[in-house]
Amino acid sequence: MSYIYDPKKNILFHKKTELPLKGLEQNFIGACSKCNADVVSISYHIYDDQNAVAAKCTNCEQLYAIIYDAFWIWIGEHLIDCDPHCTPALEEVSITPASEYQEEASEDLQVLQAIPQKKLSTVFTPAEIDSMFAKAAGKKYVRQYLYRARKKFDDFQELFDVYLNI
Ligand SMILES: [Zn+2]
Repeated sequence: MSYIYDPKKNILFHKKTELPLKGLEQNFIGACSKCNADVVSISYHIYDDQNAVAAKCTNCEQLYAIIYDAFWIWIGEHLIDCDPHCTPALEEVSITPASEYQEEASEDLQVLQAIPQKKLSTVFTPAEIDSMFAKAAGKKYVRQYLYRARKKFDDFQELFDVYLNI
């Protein structure tokens, strides 16, 4: 197939060309052609002068590349293959497992890793958690999500008595 997606890094390829990432918004964008369940966007990409949206069925987890023109008029959709390293569960798409970062665990990262996932997800969205882990590990992160997460640090401390400073 001509589209490949790496959900861990949110990279969409068309015939081995990487389509630049534009955003990571999750929006409902249609129905799955296989099972008719909701399809939700994962990431938005620039595709020449058009737009490509990587999206996923919330039920059967089929990935789609949906192509729109410059004015967001629907052009077509394609089923896409996951990158071979990809993990199928929806959670794992948005949350990078803590273990992946262990080799270069900074102090911030150790603090984060010590917090049970359940506590984190009580306060933060998966995208925010992912950004905190990435920032603590010195990796690429989505600034907007980290800012959003930071606004919740006081709440988190109040609830769980853990002070985050990422
Ligand atoms: Zn489906």
